[in-house]
Amino acid sequence: MTPADPSLADLSRAELAELLDGEPAYRLAQVWDGLYRRRRPLAELSNVPKALRRAIGELLPDALALVRTQSADRGATTKHLWSLRDGHLVESVLMRYRSRTTLCISSQAGCAMACSFCATGQVGFDRNLSVGEMVSQVLGTLQHAGSETSAINIVFMGMGEPLANYDAVWAAVERFHGDMGVGARHITISTVGVIPGIVRLAAADLPVNLAVSLHAANDRLRNRIAPINRTYPLRDLARALADYRRAKRRRISFEWAMISGVNDRDSDAAELAAYARPLAAHVNLIPLNPTPGYDHTPSRAERIEHFASQLASHGVNATVRVNRGTSIDAACGQLRADKQVSISRRGRPVRREERTRIER
Ligand code: SAH
Repeated sequence: MTPADPSLADLSRAELAELLDGEPAYRLAQVWDGLYRRRRPLAELSNVPKALRRAIGELLPDALALVRTQSADRGATTKHLWSLRDGHLVESVLMRYRSRTTLCISSQAGCAMACSFCATGQVGFDRNLSVGEMVSQVLGTLQHAGSETSAINIVFMGMGEPLANYDAVWAAVERFHGDMGVGARHITISTVGVIPGIVRLAAADLPVNLAVSLHAANDRLRNRIAPINRTYPLRDLARALADYRRAKRRRISFEWAMISGVNDRDSDAAELAAYARPLAAHVNLIPLNPTPGYDHTPSRAERIEHFASQLASHGVNATVRVNRGTSIDAACGQLRADKQVSISRRGRPVRREERTRIER
């Protein structure tokens, strides 16, 4: 079995209709709605004959197998480790908030963007995920999480650069929106600034939220910490974002990992404000999460508050993000699917029982 062989979640409705040719006409809706409206696994669609379920399952086996889950924040954050059919591993994170549940999914196995502070970037690129592999992260997580997940946000903020895998990501967005009923304003694509993808998004018909991982507002620093900036420099990025905003009338947000002594000075705040203000962008400040390959520390809480107030004094709104899941390496930029020995924040190896609860 290769990743090129489709799973059930890779099929469009038209492709499934073709497969079910010869079955009664209502069968298509039974299967499709069972999978995407009711969000149940094929095996549990009891209104579909068992023999047919079995035949579909054999022809189109699952895209992912759950390897394990780990929980933090008193169960409010759960990280799922999935194995793809060809053995690659990806992670997704479920975060429960009072009124909504956010699902953070991966779009690639690994990442080619090589941002210096990001654990996924440090590991390198394996391959793009298929639409079925992305949709299955959401369905699998919801099925694993149980019932109280009706209102969901889906964010492409896991491993990988979604706009470097545009077609499959967009097919997943359409499945979430059209078939699962998730509103466009509850879907966020996060990019390090892949301009051709932003141009395509601006022409697409659904106004999804766009988050841009900025982290530096001058080319010299950004070339260093987010090397894709050498291909898509800040000035060109700003032009693409202005076009996106005009086309979609949606607020853009900037992610800014606060790195002590690197991008947290008053001069950095002034540069960021000058970049964000003409775009009316909102800024999310994220204390740097420790990763094995990056030898810097997060800014202190007071520095982050001060930075936010500097932005405010320049007319830019900022939110300081509360980090979720740092104890299980589930926070922004920490996903690396455990390809290497786990190293704790203090640099000592973590005992297995501290980090994992094997589910199966
Ligand atoms: N490639 C996309 C999707 C990844 S989203 C993108 O770059 O937007 C993951 C988010 O976490 C991005 O905003 C990324 O810049 C941020 N991030 C990466 N490493 C981090 C770290 N060590 N600490 C805090 N945020 C980090």
